Amino acid sequence: MQEVKSPKKPIIYYYIIAIAALLLFNLLAIPYMSRAEIEEVDYGTFMKLTEQKKIGQVEVRDNEILFTNKSGDRIYKTGLMDDPDRTQRLYDSGAQFSQEIVEETSPWISILLSWILPLLIFVGIGQYMYKKMLEKAGGGSNSMMFGMGKSNAKVYVKSSSGIKFSDVAGEDEAKENLTEIVEYLHDPKKYTEIGASMPKGILLVGPPGTGKTMLAKAVAGEADVPFFSMSGSEFVEMFVGMGASKVRDLFKQAKEKAPCIVFIDEIDAIGKKRDGQIGGNDEREQTLNQLLTEMDGFEGNNGVIILAATNRPESLDPALLRPGRFDRRVPVELPDLKGREEILKVHARKIKVDENVDFNKIARMASGASGAELANIVNEAALRAVRDNRSCATQQDLEESIEVVIAGYQKKNAILSDKEKKIVSYHEIGHALVAAMQTHSAPVQKITIIPRTSGALGYTMQVEDSDHYLMTKEEMENKIATFTAGRAAEELIFGSITTGASNDIEQATKLARVMIARYGMSDTFDMVAMETVNNQYLGGDSSLSCSADTQTRIDEEVIELVKKQHEKARTILKENEEKLHQLSQFLYEKETITGTEFMSILNS
Ligand code: ADP
Ligand code: ZN
Repeated sequence: MQEVKSPKKPIIYYYIIAIAALLLFNLLAIPYMSRAEIEEVDYGTFMKLTEQKKIGQVEVRDNEILFTNKSGDRIYKTGLMDDPDRTQRLYDSGAQFSQEIVEETSPWISILLSWILPLLIFVGIGQYMYKKMLEKAGGGSNSMMFGMGKSNAKVYVKSSSGIKFSDVAGEDEAKENLTEIVEYLHDPKKYTEIGASMPKGILLVGPPGTGKTMLAKAVAGEADVPFFSMSGSEFVEMFVGMGASKVRDLFKQAKEKAPCIVFIDEIDAIGKKRDGQIGGNDEREQTLNQLLTEMDGFEGNNGVIILAATNRPESLDPALLRPGRFDRRVPVELPDLKGREEILKVHARKIKVDENVDFNKIARMASGASGAELANIVNEAALRAVRDNRSCATQQDLEESIEVVIAGYQKKNAILSDKEKKIVSYHEIGHALVAAMQTHSAPVQKITIIPRTSGALGYTMQVEDSDHYLMTKEEMENKIATFTAGRAAEELIFGSITTGASNDIEQATKLARVMIARYGMSDTFDMVAMETVNNQYLGGDSSLSCSADTQTRIDEEVIELVKKQHEKARTILKENEEKLHQLSQFLYEKETITGTEFMSILNS
């Protein structure tokens, strides 16, 4: 294991400055601090000065005489001579007999004054400044430094969080998984007696905003133990060596407070695969190494449970996933329909909502939304209600908020030209009509041609009856046909095509590609997978693992598949051209058409 470099440079700096200042101080200040130097004179001079009445104070000691001039700014000394009437003469000259003429400062006091005291002052200042500097740099003090005190950093938010499992809606599987941890934290003895050891590290894996942080806090809340949290990205921004020492600090504190939860968010920021590149990120590797050392260093049963969250599990260094480290994985997926409804209800409890609100409908409209997005939708609805001076959020507020959160805010002053508006209307109705005519496609909920800041000109909201876990080949083909239908409508009505279909093209292609390369839905390749998914939770990018020749054939198949569905869409639209006109005209005039309006026109 690598030895961690401590940031030595700054300290040495301060010591050099301190020593330099000390020398200067001695050179300039000390002479003024002690009294004038004592001048040694012969006895004759003493007698002469006595005679001339120039002596201020005098002190006769065992073997010497100390005296000053009249103004007292010079001190002299001379040896003691046998001189019987000296006292009388001194008295006559007006000298004052004194016991307090300062000879020399005692040697240890002078060392203390001239060296140790300034040294202490300068070291103190240096340390203070260094500490300040660290704090400014986003860190806290460093326990390694000067071997002093504990960290007073804010990095570890220690809270009794108060969040419970009941605050986390849906995610039943994840909760079930974590219940065991809660029980262990409640009563570790029960486990140690039997010899069972808890996993030290648990990895919460899932897309952003699905409640991973909440779950970690809820574990701490349920078990009523301290919660230390830290984000992986915080480590990497700091000086070299700081990340590692912070990890050490964190674990030191955690061990003192055990049983407790340590939560590391975005662990991929430090736990990325070490790629063996030259000049890689030293800081990150040191931090990672320190984390591994800490995890290996403590026993499984000391009551510290480490939870970590990531949305890119595949990019984690395998060393982190080895037994004894993060060897348990808890998936935290996007909520399903039921989960979405529950999450909406949990958040709706925090605001005033109209009692007629149909949460199931909202949940169905917000297919694919994460917990964080749903929370946002509810909050948007409340804001909208306030803006419009309503006392509670209504169904309409919520529905509108879905669009706001998912499709961006309505662009109030973006103006489409008349021609553009017409094209967009036909394009969107094209999608909806083809979707509706194919039995397996979801019915249309609402179409609007009010432009959004997201850049989408039209927007078709589809409601899925329930969540699909399996899709048939036919359903996927129909989806492709629906994607191509916008362009098909443009072709059919205007005889020319626009750039408005770029997103459709992308999605149709993606779908066709996964059908062939991932799901084995082509006759040519049968059940041979040709791609590997690299990133399951963020977009799901994948790479092809097949010969160049096969890649060419895949491309050909993809093109053929999309072409065929595009043709199918054109045919459907041609057969229903009258409805296409009717519906598009309605949308063009009203700018919005609901699913009900759509279906009633279609069936009229
Ligand atoms: P993650 O850590 O997975 O990115 P968070 O736990 O930070 O997500 O969630 C962000 C916010 O989203 C939470 O504060 C909460 O308001 C909301 N949220 C997410 N998932 C849920 C859920 N399952 N139940 C209730 N609220 C949720
Ligand atoms: Zn389109």
